This record gives sequence, structure tokens and C-alpha cells, in this order.
Amino acid sequence: MQRRFDWILFDADGTLLDYDAAESHSLAVSADSFGISLSPEMHHAYREINSALWRQFELGQVSSEKLRVRRFNELAALFGLEMSGSDFSDAYLSALARSGHMMDGAREMLDSLPRDYRLAVITNGIRDVQYGRLRAAGILEKFEYVIISEDAGAAKPSPDFFKYMCRKLDERRKDRMLVVGDSVSSDIAGGVGYGIPSVWFNPESIPNKSDVQPDWEIRDWVDLERILTGTL
Ligand SMILES: [Mg+2]
Repeated sequence: MQRRFDWILFDADGTLLDYDAAESHSLAVSADSFGISLSPEMHHAYREINSALWRQFELGQVSSEKLRVRRFNELAALFGLEMSGSDFSDAYLSALARSGHMMDGAREMLDSLPRDYRLAVITNGIRDVQYGRLRAAGILEKFEYVIISEDAGAAKPSPDFFKYMCRKLDERRKDRMLVVGDSVSSDIAGGVGYGIPSVWFNPESIPNKSDVQPDWEIRDWVDLERILTGTL
């Protein structure tokens, strides 16, 4: 049977890797090493601070270096913690880079993909952390390329990220690629905006409140197989 795509471009966090689990684990480990007992309130506040900063990052309003430290300085200020945001950030990132938590079903999905697809990871994140996590999960070698915003000098959904990606992959035929990701604002807006067919992996069936429409929306990995075989 004729293959519909040559490349599958997977987002990392919330798609293959379980960021929430890795984050909780790494926060607890690093807080512990600083003698801080991490309360649920602190954890919650950290998540709010961090996602606000990542939104600014996606809009190009804050650099990834500033983001790494600022989130912990803001947390320390909020809870009156005696710690250097920069030292805590180092501890956190090294714990995170060793966290290989995966999303449910992602490993089985990767293992069951027909071998002739070319695979890449496309991720907004910190180079060493993302490589470390893919390695810790034992899936790094499945991917021909790992395209990271830090290397690209631009983040999804920016067309510059996808331009950089196409150059790395040495592929111009956008219709032979498939973007798969859990974020409408970065993966789907990026893919659709650049003209690459895109699948929204939406296991929790979150309503799409944006104007961006994915080519497909799936809740379950079995549906990716159906897209690849042309039955969905
Ligand atoms: Mg994601």
C-alpha cells in the first residue's frame, strides 16, 4: 500500500513524555536537596508561574535562560524561601534531565509504528534537558532528528522553527510530513501555519477554543495508525 507520509514529527511534552510527572518528581527531589518541604500550594504556584513564563517564551517575550531562573526567583519571593533561583534551577534541571517519565501508551505506539517511517521529535525546550529525558526514557535512538527550539533559535509555532526543521531534515515536501502534538497553540498552529498536515493528540478531549483547526484530532493512539493507513 502507498504510504501517505514519510515523516512523523512528534512533539515531546504531553505527547510522548509526561512532563507533569517529570516535573513533580524533579521539583520534589531538588526541594529536598535544599531542605525545603514542597507543599501542594507551592507546587501549584510553581505551575502557574511556569506556564505564564512559557506563554511569554512562545511569544518571544522572554529568553529560555531568563525563564529557567526567573520561575524559581518568583516562587521564592512568593513563599519567602531563602534560596537562589539560579542554584535551585541548576538542581531542578539536572533532576529533570534524568526523568524519563512517558505518557501512557506512547512507548507501545512508538514500538508498533511501521519501521519505514522516518521519525523526529520537535520540541520547545532546553537542549540538554530534552535529550536527557528522551535518553532516560530509552527512546532517543528511535528518532533520526531531535529538533529543539533552543537550537533553532525560534520556538513552535513560529514558521522559523519549521523552516529550521525542514533544513535539518533536508525535506521540502510538506505534504509528506505529519506533525503530531498535544498543543493547539504551538504544534497545530505551527504545523497548519507552515502547511504541514497536523494531528492534535487530545486524550482529555479538551475543547478547542482557538481558530486553529487541526487536520485530525485523536484521543487514542490507535487512531494515529488509522490516519497513517488512510482509514481516518
Ligand atoms: Mg506538548
